[in-house]
Amino acid sequence: MRSTNRMKCRCPSCGAEQVWQDECRRCRTDLSELRLLNEKICSLEQKLIDALNTGDYRHAVRCAQQLKQIDPVLLSDVLLHLNLSQDFQ
Ligand SMILES: [Zn+2]
Repeated sequence: MRSTNRMKCRCPSCGAEQVWQDECRRCRTDLSELRLLNEKICSLEQKLIDALNTGDYRHAVRCAQQLKQIDPVLLSDVLLHLNLSQDFQ
């Protein structure tokens, strides 16, 4: 499911690329759980960006930690290595 483009998905079964839907247009694989996970990631990324923009670094770190639990190589991993987390935990 890894993709930096959060507007489209690639079906893990057949590889078809499409906009997010609950079902693959080609092979009819159920993608609803992946779509919900993508929405959660998008929401957390936006909260993280908003927190950084407002200087709420504690909240930014919490968002980054939640993103890291979903996927350890997302943007959050980069942010956590900026040592923000050491100052605000
Ligand atoms: Zn498919």
